[in-house]
Amino acid sequence: MKNLLLFLDYDGTLTPIVKKPHLAKLSKARQAKLRKISTTPHIRVVVISGRKLADLKKLVGIPGIFYAGNHGFEISGPKTSLVHPKAKAAKPIIAKIKKELTKELKGIKGTLVEDKTLTLSLHYRLVKAAALPKVKKIFSQVTEPYLKSKKIRITEVKKVLEVRPNIDWDKGKAVLWFLEKKFKGKRVFPIFIGDDTTDEDAFIALKDKGSTFRVGRSETTHAKHIIKDVDQVYHLLEFLPLEF
Ligand SMILES: [Mg+2]
Repeated sequence: MKNLLLFLDYDGTLTPIVKKPHLAKLSKARQAKLRKISTTPHIRVVVISGRKLADLKKLVGIPGIFYAGNHGFEISGPKTSLVHPKAKAAKPIIAKIKKELTKELKGIKGTLVEDKTLTLSLHYRLVKAAALPKVKKIFSQVTEPYLKSKKIRITEVKKVLEVRPNIDWDKGKAVLWFLEKKFKGKRVFPIFIGDDTTDEDAFIALKDKGSTFRVGRSETTHAKHIIKDVDQVYHLLEFLPLEF
């Protein structure tokens, strides 16, 4: 029998999207379910997210599994602890952008600049519609010089604008890294479950290698399957050990 390598996104996959990122907590029951899956002998779990690694580990709270934070720029788990060297080098730029953004956005209600050290997120879910153009204008003014000098990349998903160092690395590359470096020669079948555009890189990477699921409706996904919502993710997880 093949071992299952289960990649799980966090926000929007293991927990519903919430108004403020720190409120995205796992219920005890769901945490217990995940823990049980992670201790099933032929299943390995990797929780992979755009969140900072330390934050992700704290939110999930399950020991002995792999975690990939900041879209895979930082990875930890059994006998594993690493940070992408180029991402490490880009830290001062992210810090500078954070400082400028915080200064310029001061006084605009509902904005939240989340410092993830290697990347940065501007959350605007709570910004009033009337103030949104101003927020977006400030964001593009602050980030423009760094974009022009190709120091950063910007992604926008689910009311979050994200600044990342301009490095050829994403969830797809991270998933392939796991297959190559951590599970090479082992008979593993990868499964990836995620809910937004940053997960599409992983869906593409696993096209001929495993099974992929996008949570929520999407007309343009590269995932092989679509599942309705977070509840359905847990239904699926419950049956996993039986089906493979
Ligand atoms: Mg997500």
